Parts: sequence; C-alpha cells; structure tokens
Amino acid sequence: MRGSLVGPRVLLRRLREVMSEPASAQERLDRIVVLIANNMVAEVCSVYVARADNTLELYATEGLNREAVHLTTMRMDEGLVGLIAREAQPLALSDAQSHPSFSYKPETGEEIYASFLGVPILRAGNAIGVLVVQNRAARIYSEEEIEAFQTTAMVLAEMIAGGELEALARPGSGGTVVKRTVALVAQPIAEGVGLGHVVLHEPRVVIKNLVADDPEAELKRLNASLELLRASIDDLMDHGGLSHAGEHRDVLETFRMFAQDRGWIRKLQEAIHTGLTAEAAVERVQSDIRVRLLRQTDPYLRERLHDLDDLANRLLHQLTGAAFTLAAENLPENAILVARAMGPAALLEYQRLRLRGLVLEEGGATSHVAIVARALGIPTVGKAEGIIGLVEQGDAIIIDGASGEIQIRPSPDVEAAYAERARMRAKRQEQYRALRDKQAISKDKVSVDIQMNAGLLVDLPNLDETGAAGVGLFRTEILFMVAPSLPRAQAQEALYRTIIDIADRRPVTFRTLDIGGDKVLPYLRKIDEENPALGWRAVRIGLDRPALLRTQLRALLNATRDRDLRIMLPMISTLEEFEAARGMLNRERERLRRLNQNGPRQVHLGVMLEVPSLLFDLDRLFAAVDFVSIGTNDLMQFMFAADRENARVATRFDTLHPSFLRALASVARLSRETGKPVSICGEMAGRPIEALALLGLGFRSFSMSPSNIGPVKALVRGVDIGKLETFVRGKLETAFDGPTLRADLTEFAAAHDLSF
Ligand code: PEP
Ligand code: MG
Repeated sequence: MRGSLVGPRVLLRRLREVMSEPASAQERLDRIVVLIANNMVAEVCSVYVARADNTLELYATEGLNREAVHLTTMRMDEGLVGLIAREAQPLALSDAQSHPSFSYKPETGEEIYASFLGVPILRAGNAIGVLVVQNRAARIYSEEEIEAFQTTAMVLAEMIAGGELEALARPGSGGTVVKRTVALVAQPIAEGVGLGHVVLHEPRVVIKNLVADDPEAELKRLNASLELLRASIDDLMDHGGLSHAGEHRDVLETFRMFAQDRGWIRKLQEAIHTGLTAEAAVERVQSDIRVRLLRQTDPYLRERLHDLDDLANRLLHQLTGAAFTLAAENLPENAILVARAMGPAALLEYQRLRLRGLVLEEGGATSHVAIVARALGIPTVGKAEGIIGLVEQGDAIIIDGASGEIQIRPSPDVEAAYAERARMRAKRQEQYRALRDKQAISKDKVSVDIQMNAGLLVDLPNLDETGAAGVGLFRTEILFMVAPSLPRAQAQEALYRTIIDIADRRPVTFRTLDIGGDKVLPYLRKIDEENPALGWRAVRIGLDRPALLRTQLRALLNATRDRDLRIMLPMISTLEEFEAARGMLNRERERLRRLNQNGPRQVHLGVMLEVPSLLFDLDRLFAAVDFVSIGTNDLMQFMFAADRENARVATRFDTLHPSFLRALASVARLSRETGKPVSICGEMAGRPIEALALLGLGFRSFSMSPSNIGPVKALVRGVDIGKLETFVRGKLETAFDGPTLRADLTEFAAAHDLSF
C-alpha cells in the first residue's frame, strides 16, 4: 500500500495485541491512535465518539494537542468530522482547509495539516464515531488505504458498542450515543405495559476474532459456509416449515439470489484479503451495504436490505457456530422480546411467564404473530422502525401496547412514570376480575350476553378468566395460519373437539375459513389480486373449492356429537351464497345419517353480516338464517370504501357516524320483529363508547376480545339502558348533523357517571 509502512493485516494484528494487553480503556485508545498514525505514515490520528447529546467528542489523539482530549466537541452539523458522521461516508481531502465544511478548533492546533482522511465508525448502518488521520503534506489517499482504514474502524466500533468507553465520557454528556435514551412511537398491537430488558429473538453475533493470519484458510471457511447456507435455503424451500420460520417463498427466493450474487461474494473475498476473518469480512461488507441502503427512500430497496441483513446474519451464525435464535428456555426474567419478524410458532416456544412484552420491527397488527401475542395477553407493539439497530441485548426497555410507545434505556423518572401506569392498569384489571362471576345486567335489569372472540387453543382459558358466556366468534382460519401445513380432516376434527370440550357447556360459534384478503396461509399458493379485500376470499373460496369447505363442515359435525353446533359463514354477499353453503352442510348431515353416525343434537347456521348488499335484503335474510352476527370491521370497510389495513384511511370515518348507526339499527329492528338472534362481533363491540351506542340501538348480544370484557361489563352494570335507548334514538331520529355521535355519547357517559 502506498504511503504506509506495513499492510493492513499487520496493523490489525498489532491492534489485536493492544486489545489483549492489560490496560485502561483510555490507555488502550491512546496506543491505538499511535499505532494507526505510524501505520498510515500520518502525523495525526484522532478518534471522535458520538455522544448521547448528539455531539462528537475527541476521545484520543496522536499529533493534535493532547490537552484537547475530552474537551473538544463538535456538533453533528459542524466541521468535516460532523459531515462524516452525518453521511456515514468516508471523506478524503488533500486540502482540508479549503473544504466548505472545515471548522477550525484552535485548542487542537490542527491548522498546520493539509490532508485529511476520515471514516465513520459504524454500528448497524449508523455512525457512532469518526476516525481521522491527517498529514502535513498535501497527499492523496488511495482507495486501498481508505478501505483498510474503514476496516481498522471496526475495532473501535466493537469498543464503543461494547460499552468499554462509557466511563471516559465527559461528565454531564450522557455517555456515548449507543447508550442514549430513545423514545419511539410504534403501532399498538396488544395492550399492557411491559418493563424489562431487551432479549433479541435473533441475537447478534459478537465477533471475537477480527483478525486472521491465514487469508487462504479464511476464504475456505467462507466458501464452505456459503455452500451450507445455499443448501439450507434450498432445503427450506423444498420442505414445508415455512410458516414456522415466518418466511414466505418470495423472501427465500431473494435469499437464494443474494447467496449466489457474485458482486457480494467478491466483496467478501476482498475484505478477507485485507486481513479480516471470514466473519469480520461479512460484518464489514454488510455494514457498507447498510449505509448505502439505509439512506435509500425506495421502499423496495430498503426491503432488500432487510433480506440481505438476514442473509448476512445467517452466514455469521454459520461461520461462528452461534445458535441462530435464543434457546427459548433460556429466557431471562422480565424479557421484552425484540424481533425483526417472527412466526407464531416461535413465539409459542418462549416461556410465557417470563415474557413482559414483544416488539416487532416489521410485523403489524394483522401479522400472525401479533394475533398469537394478543391471544397470550403479551403487551405488543409492531412496525417499530429501526428498533433492531437501536438496541443491544440486555438494554432496559419499556413498551406500552395501548399507545405504541417504546422507551429505550429510559431515565429513572420515565421508568417511574411507566411503572405507575402499569400499577394503575393492574389495579383496574383486579377490579374487572372481581366482576367475573357477576352478571352483565343493567341498572334497569336488562340482561346482556357477552361472549368472547377466539382463534387459538391458547385463547380458551380466557373463558374462565373473564367469565365470558361463550365464544361468539371462533376464527378458524387462525388455527390454520399457525399450522405448518394444511390441517387434514382428522386433525381438524380433533382440534374442534378439544375446543368444544374446553368450552364445556358454553356455546362456541365456529366461523368457517375466512382466508384470502390479508389472511394468507403460507402453504397455499398466494393469488395476486388487484384488490384482495374485494377478491376471492372467505366463503367465495369455500363455494368454488368445495373440498376445503366440505372437509371443514364434516370435521365440525364429527366433532360435535350429541351437542349443539353453531356455524357461521363469513363474507356472505347474497342469500344465494348462503343457500349454496347450507346445501353443502345438509348433504354432510345426510351422509352422517346414512352412515348411522350420531351428529350434533342441533345445528344452527348463521351468517356474518359484513357486506352491505345484505342490508338491502334483510327480510329474506332473516327468514332464511338461524342467526346473524355483524362483523363491523368489514362492514365499516365496505360501507365507507376505506381499507381497514390502510393507516391513511382506516380511521378517517367513525363507526359512530349516523349513517353507520342507522344501518345497524335496521338490523336490530329486523331481529326484534323476527325473533332471530343478532350479535355484534367486530372490534366495535369491545370499545365502551361504541358499545353504549350499540346498546342504545337495541343490541343485547356481543362478542369481543377477552381484554374488553371487563370494561364493557362494568359499563353495562352501570347504565340504565331504557334511558340510553331514548337518548340514542332521539339523536338518530332528529336530523342529527355531524360526522359522529362520539361526543354526545361521551357526554352521556360522563353525565351518568359511567366508568369503564
Ligand atoms: C369483522 O369483519 O368485523 C370480523 C369480526 O371479522 P374479521 O375481523 O375476522 O374480518
Ligand atoms: Mg370480517
């Protein structure tokens, strides 16, 4: 290498020696800058570390005035050092002082140096410091030198991230940036406040050996690991198991593409030639890629970064032999699990009692793992952008699953405030638990039926815990989503029987498979549609592919010997669809009779009312069905033509809009007139102010998430339903003008001292 006395390999080896000598952190840093300056034949070498207060502090120098160490600081928007940190890119100049960003710090005495080379010290794509060399003479730093210098910066990255330099920070500066407190707001998924420590679902590999003596041996190790990696991807693609890993076929395709990418592999080989071990080379190359892709705004490219990160991570595990995921049984107490993405089965393997919370970088409220987390009552937040790069194993962290707030390394007063929040919540839960065995009966003695929604076996203990009268909506597709492959007839039958047995005498209403739209079964081929929510889904699939629906109906009939069976059909748009499904059910019942087998004592077949077309055919509908359950989540989405998963429009319209309430009122009226039961099973039923509106419209049967049962029961027990009905009817019958009854109902609740 031109200009340097010895190659990068020798420097790395010497750095390794320094790192292993017994010395204080400051002494070590001081020796490192001397070594680097000598190696680069530079008069100056300095290390700046990014601090929690968003400034850069000079931590060590050879060549500049030593008195300036821990005194000189730069803002992130100041000087060449600030520029490098901001952009996370190297900067090489032969005449530094003429650069527009140059800022002169008199205490350092650096005015006599003409050329300047600085590189960022990187961690997860962000600069946590800057390493600089300067020369008195004007000179040009070669590509190789810049490369080697970046490799050297990795040693410092390990020191900073490992917390070794924390004690050196100037008092009052808050320490280094890697230990700063961060507050984020993510997507709320499952409520509850969790205080604990970060446990990374996929722990980062800590690279202990950066430097290798024999590049040929390292190249061999790299090739062997790449080979194994490719084989394992092929294996994953050829055999099921996809749902367990939470991976879909297209992600694996991308993996395969990268694993064969020549550009990537060449970069890894070059890094090994600079003297790095194979694992350090992977880390180094990935760090560069991260810097480039993190600054991309194109969502497709950023997505590819995650894929590449995952792939690099797999390769690192392969090379170091580290376990790929934390052994689930080794979970420490008060663990807040942090994962980029995760399959539902993986979550189920952790010890529930030690888990205080779950943070997902990518998964949102409808991801399968989110559904399971909710069922297990684990406080959860999702879509926490960048969280993996911000936390280290063991960091203190707090999450609030109701608001989506995340506090990383919180200050003691923030921690105290959240602990208080958690205590208040626990107290409220205690009050709700006290209501468990009390009836849901209003002040004026109107009885209300409160059941719960479920979708997994782990939900069912909530029947006893909440005092729910039954399962008003069992989303069978969730059982299918967490299964590794399509459950066959017998497996389904066994599952349904277990559910009925656990529910004991309480009714369970099974909804037939509601797949399609956003609910994808990993083992069934995904069909690309322009508008999946309006596409081939739910009962539409069941009628077009009768084998699927028939198997399910048969399994349900077989599972319910001598008891009552309740089935409801999702996404029915016309009466004819209902009749066609009923025809299938009748044929299955006929078959049982022919085989002389006992079927259920009685079968009740109902529809979910979630497509507005049914609102205009209510007379015929109520004449035909045994019961109706209103899925307000979808009914709202279709009535207002607003995608329930699209954050921009999902909350644009209120469920308490008079037009929506009038539509619901017409269903309640038909139920009264025909005597056919109607219930509400969308999220609306579980939200107290909305539940007030529904009670006021005449609804008396609800099914909701278990966590909402306490608040709604408390509300029912405190309200005079007669008065409430008069109030709501009055509002809807007078020409109410405005987009929502929310304010009026909130006022009603306050005026009548309703607490929930
Ligand atoms: C609904 O649409 O309101 C409903 C309860 O069903 P899901 O949320 O499963 O679509
Ligand atoms: Mg629905």
